[in-house]
Amino acid sequence: MDEEKVVKAGKIAGEIKSWVRPKIKSGIPLLEIAEMIEKKIIEMGASPAFPVNLSTNEYAAHYTPSHNDETLAHGLLKVDFGVEVDGWIADNAFSVDLEDLPLNKNLIKASEDALKNAEKILSHETSLGDIGKVIEKTIRSHGFNPVANLSGHSMEQYDIHSGITVPNVENNSENTFKTGVYAIEPFATNGKGFVHDGKKGNIFILEKDRNTRDPLGREILEYVKDTYGSLPFASRWIVKEFGGRAVLSLNQLENEGILHQYPILTEEKGKFVAQSENTFLIKDGTVINTTK
Ligand code: MN
Ligand code: MN
Repeated sequence: MDEEKVVKAGKIAGEIKSWVRPKIKSGIPLLEIAEMIEKKIIEMGASPAFPVNLSTNEYAAHYTPSHNDETLAHGLLKVDFGVEVDGWIADNAFSVDLEDLPLNKNLIKASEDALKNAEKILSHETSLGDIGKVIEKTIRSHGFNPVANLSGHSMEQYDIHSGITVPNVENNSENTFKTGVYAIEPFATNGKGFVHDGKKGNIFILEKDRNTRDPLGREILEYVKDTYGSLPFASRWIVKEFGGRAVLSLNQLENEGILHQYPILTEEKGKFVAQSENTFLIKDGTVINTTK
């Protein structure tokens, strides 16, 4: 693990978080917010680890604006973005209430407190079970439910979900946090605590590299392999490079099983979801919140 790069990616993410938070207002196009964050990441000498996720209300995660998106910021908005330095990743998220609604504010507070309480007990000796327990307990103390089928994750170079799951609910795992990089991300909801796969959210990843008949598709595939490798990318990034015709080719590549498009993780009954996330570097006796 390249600790220096892990810390550098986190520092950039944390700074951008503070910079962008006051700029997010009701009525601003989501496309503008996504591009503003992604541009800043590049200006600061890093790359987006994945497209900026801007998920609203019952959308918990995995929505990014399309190239011609006209959605305006509203509701309970989750801003989730990743910074990558030479493949070492910082993943972080915050939620904002753009309606001045007590429900939204309380959900946000529940997810923020859960993340804070998880951080308080976090060390290389903490079990995954205990982290889930403290997250669940905190969210329930606010009168809400944690989303049980969303979780944090370990990260490796160029690998956002590298195998270890950090649960948001009580469980009996006695496995502890080994040396490594972990995203912890509590989700609080006024629903029952489950999301399902909804509509597609304009975020793609290379699934299976094989031949396609579409010439533009072939070009896009080469570009994706060279530019994003194993990391997710936005359809709008491809449109920027190849023009509007790329949309059809992306669909074709998806139909051929070469690309996968993520569905939007959506609360089952349309209830609202808030999220908070930071990345932690854990090593022996030390814990660093890299994205603070
Ligand atoms: Mn995230
Ligand atoms: Mn994450």
